[in-house]
This record gives sequence, C-alpha cells and structure tokens, in this order.
Amino acid sequence: MTAKNLEADLVVIGGGGAGLAAASAAAENGCKSVIVLEKAGSATGSTGMAHDVFGAESPVQKRLGIDASKDELFKAAMEWAHWTKINPRIVRAFIDKSGETIGWLENMGLSFEMIQYYPNQVPLVRHSVKGHGHALMKALRENCLKRGVQILTRTPGKKLLRDKDGKISGVIAESGEGEIAIAAKSVIITTGGYGNNKEMLKKYCSNYHDTMTYDGPPSNTGDGIIMATEIGAATAGMGACNIHGPFLKPRSDSHTMKMDAPGPDGSPIRITLWFLAWEPETLWVNKRGERFIDEGYNLAFFAFGNAVALQPDGITYTLFDTGILRTIEKQGLIRPGAASRANWLPVSAATPLPGLEREMKKQADKGDLIIADSWDGIAAWMGADAAVLKATIDEYNASCDDRHDSLFAKDRRYLLPMRTPPFYAVKAHLGLCDAYGGIKINEHMEALDANDNPIPGLYAAGSTAGCWETESYCYRLTGHLVGFALNSGRIAGEKAVRYLAKF
Ligand SMILES: Cc1cc2nc3c(=O)[nH]c(=O)nc-3n(C[C@H](O)[C@H](O)[C@H](O)COP(=O)(O)OP(=O)(O)OC[C@H]3O[C@@H](n4cnc5c(N)ncnc54)[C@H](O)[C@@H]3O)c2cc1C
Repeated sequence: MTAKNLEADLVVIGGGGAGLAAASAAAENGCKSVIVLEKAGSATGSTGMAHDVFGAESPVQKRLGIDASKDELFKAAMEWAHWTKINPRIVRAFIDKSGETIGWLENMGLSFEMIQYYPNQVPLVRHSVKGHGHALMKALRENCLKRGVQILTRTPGKKLLRDKDGKISGVIAESGEGEIAIAAKSVIITTGGYGNNKEMLKKYCSNYHDTMTYDGPPSNTGDGIIMATEIGAATAGMGACNIHGPFLKPRSDSHTMKMDAPGPDGSPIRITLWFLAWEPETLWVNKRGERFIDEGYNLAFFAFGNAVALQPDGITYTLFDTGILRTIEKQGLIRPGAASRANWLPVSAATPLPGLEREMKKQADKGDLIIADSWDGIAAWMGADAAVLKATIDEYNASCDDRHDSLFAKDRRYLLPMRTPPFYAVKAHLGLCDAYGGIKINEHMEALDANDNPIPGLYAAGSTAGCWETESYCYRLTGHLVGFALNSGRIAGEKAVRYLAKF
C-alpha cells in the first residue's frame, strides 16, 4: 500500500555523517528540495559514535604549524595500499577536500583538538571533535534544517527506481503508515556499512568470526548496497571486516565507560581489565596456547585485530603474572598513553592503580578471567594443551631473560618474565567497527555499473561505497573513515546538484 507520494529534487538515503554532509552540500549549492530518509529514530549513524576526523592542510593544522601535506598523505595512503584494490582518484579527491571540510565544520561552530593515534605520529591529522560525534552530528543536523532539508526518521529507503532510459527516477521508502513513493531525479546512497548484517559478513569477509562484537548502529545492515546492486550497480572492495582488539569478552560499551562510575555491567574494574587485555607488557596466546604477535607493536589496535582474526575462532588470551600485575598497580597502564590525550578514553596512562590485584580477584571465575597457581591450571581453563602453553611461556621467559625477543622482536622495555604465581588469563575477542567495500564509485561519487559506466543520477558516499580504502585501517590517515564519509558526502552533494542543473 502506498501511504503517500512525495517529490524532491534529491533524496539522500541514510542520515549519518555522509548523508547529512551530502544533503548540506546540495542545499548550500542551491538545491531547493532535499529529503533525507533515515531508518533509525534519529539521524546519527556510526558517525555519531565516533570522535576523530581526518584532515590535511586544515585551518586547525595551519594555525598550529602542523605540516600535513596533501601530496605526502596521498602518497602515504597509496603506499599503504600498494596501489592495489583502491581507486587513487577517489583517494585524491577525498584528501584534497579534507582540510577545507574541517574549516566548513568550524564555521558550524565545531572545534577540534589535534591528537596522535600512535606514538610520535607525524604529521598530526587526527582532528578530535570537541563533544565527539554527538556534537558533529548535531551541527550537521542543524545545518541541514537551517537550509530547508527535510529529514524523515524511521523511514528506511527500500527500493531505487529508474526510468525507461535508465536514469534514476525516485525511491520507495517505508514509514509507519506504509510505503512512500518519492519521485526524484537524483539519489545519494549513504546507508553506512554492513557491519550488522551477519549474512553479508559471512559471504564477503574472509576474516569474520561469530565471536566478534559489532560496535556500530543496529541499522547499518548494508541496505544501500543491496538496493544499488538490485538496479545494476557494481560493488568493489568487499572482502574484510574492519576489526580491533583484543578486548575483554564480553566487552563493555566503550562509549559509556567511565573510570569513576560503574560500566554497564556494574563494575568499573572491568574497564581497566578491558585495557589490560591489550597492554604491551602482557603475553597473548591463541586457544592452542601459541603466541602470535608482538604485543607491543605500534601500540595501536587495528593491526592487532587483523592478527587476532587469524587465530582459531578469533579468540585470544592475555596472560600475565602477579609481578606484572604489581608493576601495573604501581606504574599504571601504558597503552592508553599511546593514543595521547584522546579525550574519549575512560582511563589514563601512567596512573597508579592501587588495589587492582584485590579487585581482579573479585572478578575472577565469571567466565572471562581466571587466576591459577600454575600455567597448567590456566591451560586447562583455556582448553589448551598444557605442554604447548608451557613451551610458549618458557620461550617467552627466556626472551625476557635475554632481553631479546627472537620470535617477534618485541620492544625490550615490555619484556617482563612471568614467573610469580598466581597467574592470570583474560579471555579476549574482537570488536567489529565496520566492513570494507560497497557500491563501486568513481571520484565524483557516481555509482557505477558492471561496465564502470555511471548510473545517471545515482551517487554513493561514506561506508556504503567501496574501493577507496584497503582491507586494513591506514594509520597514517587517522580518522579517515569519518573523514571519507564527510568529504565523499560533500562531493556527492555538489555533483548531484550539477547533474540536476541539466534538466
Ligand atoms: C564505535 C565507533 C567509533 C568510531 N570512531 C571513529 C573515529 O573516531 N574516526 C573515524 O574516522 N571513524 C570512526 N569509526 C568509523 C566511522 O564512524 C564510520 O566509518 C563513518 O562514520 C561512516 O559514516 P557513514 O555516513 O557512511 O555511515 P553512518 O554514519 O553509519 O550513517 C549511516 C546511516 O544510514 C542509516 N541507514 C541504514 N540503512 C538505511 C536505509 N535503508 N534507509 C535509510 N537510512 C538507512 C543508518 O541508520 C545510519 O544513520 C567509528 C565507528 C564506530 C562504530
């Protein structure tokens, strides 16, 4: 049943960062009638859960004397990708616009702090939004509404329509009252990724495990990719989950955690445990009891995620002894400091944690933390062969004694032997941030068909689009996921307006 018919020049499907940036840009460039369809109860998306935006040659960087050259960052992105799987023109278009977009956001009243993502990061590109994604999305919503953009929440886009010449002619959406047919000459798809669509994750992502916990909004189920492919759009870059960890399992919600207030599971100590599970001075093993990574690598967590995903069931165990625990009690955690001044972190680095040992004992035996007098006891809990775990511990302790990790070359500052019982094991798993790949686009954010021809009037931006990033988070371009959402959204909005001018 069709509840009503609407008409617009442009329909944007998905009211997250890319969607509202696209709608804003279209309205700013003279598009009189823009409708944003949003599936959830508010136009927020995963952008509302984020905190950092990539930018190169932004006004903030210029004021601080940070030399973040677009050319150099383009080269860094392409080197990271080895010039494979991604379209360099898209990367270039995104990076070139990114600095100006930060200024655009400042003009909406937002302010930024420049922070590092990994130790000694140069140049600083991570613009941390004051008030985080919440403030970012609020500013974008206000900008849209000020310019007459209509945002329809709880109204998912369902189907794209093309006319007899193959041009986009509208969208079918669904509201509480039934179907809505919206006639429109141009549509921008910005429905985010497919992180909450298990079927698609299983089908496309070689590194997917059922044990992963999805971090993003429930509404990101790949609808845009499904709708676009139904009318002949091609996909690109599908093939991997964007993951991070190892984290405590079950994971507390990182966005509501506070050190001075209980987390959702009622215990602030679990927040410390969450960070402890990826401290560099601990030892990480898989279910078999085998070590698999340099635990101190780069002090950043996306690469760890990739390594954990290669382990059986995507499950790992973080091990330490009472000696390491007491060192942490005295000196505090290391890893939170690597992310330097990240204003969202609920724990600080180098802050003594007296009473940690006592609190850990209270947390033991609840399914994800065990304390045992022997490594055999730990192995039994993990279901690992005790001889394999013993060999791993012996080899690791020998590396600590030698001050050289001959296996994975871990920084000797983090090589602490584990010989003081009782021993600890934390069960850890992966967080799933998003999934790579989506609708194939070109540098104008036009959606392409199987022959790389643009589908007239159809654009895609943000996480729903593919072939602009590789299958592993590019550290040098920290914040590039939100950065791409906003910049590709703006480009799509501007290009759609030019397309509409032809009619
Ligand atoms: C917890 C978390 C923290 C993150 N932190 C960062 C960070 O600090 N920096 C960074 O760069 N990246 C970060 N990311 C990744 C980043 O947030 C996303 O990649 C980016 O924001 C995607 O923007 P988007 O506009 O494409 O999608 P989203 O912002 O997710 O928007 C998609 C929107 O489409 C809507 N939608 C879905 N289907 C339909 C439909 N059928 N009809 C209508 N609407 C629909 C959704 O409800 C949603 O509102 C983080 C991700 C998570 C989950």
